[in-house]
This record gives sequence, structure tokens and C-alpha cells, in this order.
Amino acid sequence: CGIVGYIGNKDVKEILLSGLDTLEYRGYDSAGIYITDEANQGHLFKEKGRIAALRDKVDNSINAFSGIGHTRWATHGVPSVENAHPHQSTSGRFTIVHNGVIENFEEVKDAYLPDVHFHSTTDTEVIVQLIAWFVESEELDTIDAFKKAIVTLKGSYALALVDNENPNTLYAAKNKSPLLLGTGEGFNVISSDAMAMVRETDQFIELMDGEVATLTKDSIKIEDLAGETIERDSYTAHIDA
Ligand code: GLU
Repeated sequence: CGIVGYIGNKDVKEILLSGLDTLEYRGYDSAGIYITDEANQGHLFKEKGRIAALRDKVDNSINAFSGIGHTRWATHGVPSVENAHPHQSTSGRFTIVHNGVIENFEEVKDAYLPDVHFHSTTDTEVIVQLIAWFVESEELDTIDAFKKAIVTLKGSYALALVDNENPNTLYAAKNKSPLLLGTGEGFNVISSDAMAMVRETDQFIELMDGEVATLTKDSIKIEDLAGETIERDSYTAHIDA
């Protein structure tokens, strides 16, 4: 299972799909991507089975310069199109991919989201519905809602999040699951494994537990949950593309 994300000046479809191809060796039962086009319209594609099947589903006429992708190894909920990632909040505003397991998802659902209709049987959907709930009912900014969700949720996770009201930004966070940020001229990437993005860049920054990253095509900002900015240099990944 794995996560990829890209925001920048190249068309993102092939970057995400070949990144997911590279992650196939880790094993998966389904895969999906969410991409935002030039008119800031989001498009979601998910498929059970091979990446090749997902590739066949993706509309090639879309030009998109930002997006996230996922290969799933089901832990909660059977392998199916509905349970494949990315998952979305009911409003459709927020879209997320997740590697790992949310241990307290039932409790969080009961405490915060008793009236929310869920579209999947995954632990993951709770994350994105919770972020949406914090934004809608507590009027938090996306970054603050994301941080509050992280504090509320227990378990392991690598996450990449899109807010379609601010599609020039990707958000990332992790706990006990690896997540890297990759940097380049005019683009930045998210990846659970440097291999998946090494065709784009060999410069990576490790994200640590308890940090939230905000990526645009020209910038990466890392902060801790208290809002302190964290400076961290990139390292060079020595992997053949
Ligand atoms: N627990 C999540 C699910 O079952 C994510 C699994 C994964 O890491 O791929 O959907």
C-alpha cells in the first residue's frame, strides 16, 4: 500500500499512475486518484484490482496539475470500489488518502459524527468526515481542523488531504507510517516511498510524527501541532529511476 501526491506544472495523471505502478510490489487490492483540473474542478477515479484497471478508467482529456493517489491494502472494510481511497466528506469539499489504521474510529464516529451518512465501511472515512465536521461546525480553517483531527484520532497514518476550496494546496501528516515530501523546480510531491516519485525528484524531506505539511507548487511549510514552523533540509535519495 502507498500514497502519492503532486502539485506543480506538469500534468499529474501519469505522474500519479506511474507512482502507483512503482508501489505495486508492496501489495494492494484497489487503487484510486483524485485530481484537480485547470478550472479547479475535482475528479475522483477508483477501481478494485490492478492499477491498469484504474488507468483505463481515468479520463485522459482532463488536464490536472494537482492530485493525490493511493493503493489500498484493506484493514477495515472489504476490498471494493466504495472502500477504495481517496475518500471524501459528504459535501465533497475534502478528499483524503490514508495508509495505516485508525484505532478509535468507532468512538470518534459516535462522539462527533452520529448524524453523518458514511459511504464506505473504512476507518479512513472517519478522518475526512471529522475534518469536514470541524470546519463546518466549529468554523476552523482547514489546517486547524486537520490538526484537531490528528489530535482526536489514535492509530497509525500517513495522510494526504485536498480541500477543493483551496486546490492550489495539498496537506500531509503522519503518525507511525512513513511519509516523505519531495521538492523540485515548480513542483512539490508527497510520497510514502521515495521510489514512487524518483522519476520527478531525488530531493526529499522526511515528515515526522506530530507535524503538518502544507504544499503548494512553489513552497513547503512544515509546522508542529502548536503552529511552530519547522525548518528541515532535504536529502538526496540515491535510487535509480
Ligand atoms: N485502514 C485503511 C483501509 O482499510 C487503509 C489501509 C491501507 O493502509 O491501505 O482502508
